[in-house]
Amino acid sequence: KMDKDLGQHILKNPGVASAIVSKASLKQSDHVLEVGPGTGNLTVLILKAAKAVTAVEMDPRMAAELTKRVQGTPEAKRLKVMLGDVIKTELPHFDVCISNTPYQISSPLVFKLLSLPHPPRSCILMFQREFAMRLFAKPGEKLYSRLSVNVQMWAKVSHIMKVGRNNFNPPPLVESNVVRIEPKFPRPQIAYEEWDGLLRIAFVRKNRTLRASFLGTAAVVELLASNYRLFCAQHDIALDDSPIGPEEVAEVEAMEVDAEEEFNGFSDPDDPDDQLPDFFKHMQAEGKKRNGLNRKRKGRVSELVREKVRKVLEDDTQLADKRARLCDESDFLQLLYAFNQESIHFS
Ligand code: SAM
Repeated sequence: KMDKDLGQHILKNPGVASAIVSKASLKQSDHVLEVGPGTGNLTVLILKAAKAVTAVEMDPRMAAELTKRVQGTPEAKRLKVMLGDVIKTELPHFDVCISNTPYQISSPLVFKLLSLPHPPRSCILMFQREFAMRLFAKPGEKLYSRLSVNVQMWAKVSHIMKVGRNNFNPPPLVESNVVRIEPKFPRPQIAYEEWDGLLRIAFVRKNRTLRASFLGTAAVVELLASNYRLFCAQHDIALDDSPIGPEEVAEVEAMEVDAEEEFNGFSDPDDPDDQLPDFFKHMQAEGKKRNGLNRKRKGRVSELVREKVRKVLEDDTQLADKRARLCDESDFLQLLYAFNQESIHFS
């Protein structure tokens, strides 16, 4: 009986197992990391083609079964079984990673592999179909997402093959795909946290315009403002972040807000049914005053940051009206560069 779901679906089709290993194009000198070897159906094939294998397995019964399977064979010396959670395990150096991945750890595993100080030459990984397709989706495609942009920044991703659920025992609920992930070398010189932080904001709603994603939510502006304060503190840049005094309150109170003028921009002046009743004109004017006051209260820094963001989106990159789902890597790079030029940071 399984205590918790470890995604234990053993690959029972030997044809698929050998296809996976052959797609890894192993060299006799390679050190391979296998994640979740289970009973060792892939492991025995990898041992034939490579110099050494480190297999990280979380389930002690599986690890014991694998150890028993190679015991007494000449391969035994070239296999090291490590017991534990691969995400928390400090990994040795390896050239290639192969895994029929337990689906619960798909995303953390990919990012662990990509952020290693010496990333492997290539990774051949089986994932559930939708996750695999998100990895290699291109701008405009349905599954294009933060994961796609993020992974494609650090690696070249290619599709290898589909694997139906009946090739496993027990069959999982969903179909699977095998992909190849080849980390770019040298690694792009860009800070991971900055890149991911920008994408997080852009992809909260991938159908929104970048203007709406970055300026439409007070929380986003506040986050960027707080990063900006930190940046200024670290770089000895003076900030006028004082709360507003009674004089400024009076100034906003005295603001002549002409709601009628504003409204008439959208209405037909000759149509009596399309005119704003006086009561609503008054309400609208009051609302605008309150907003002005609230903004001032929030601080000058937030206003400054809001203006910087607007400038980056509208003037510097002209990407304000583009939606994240259509932006490609170079759009996001351009954005990050322009934001950083304005001292706006995402981490
Ligand atoms: N490689 C085998 C095969 O293809 O037949 C088994 C693959 S099975 C989909 C996933 C394996 O990963 C299971 O043996 C499971 O116990 C193990 N596993 C699950 N979570 C893990 C983790 N966090 N770290 C290491 N191994 C894990």
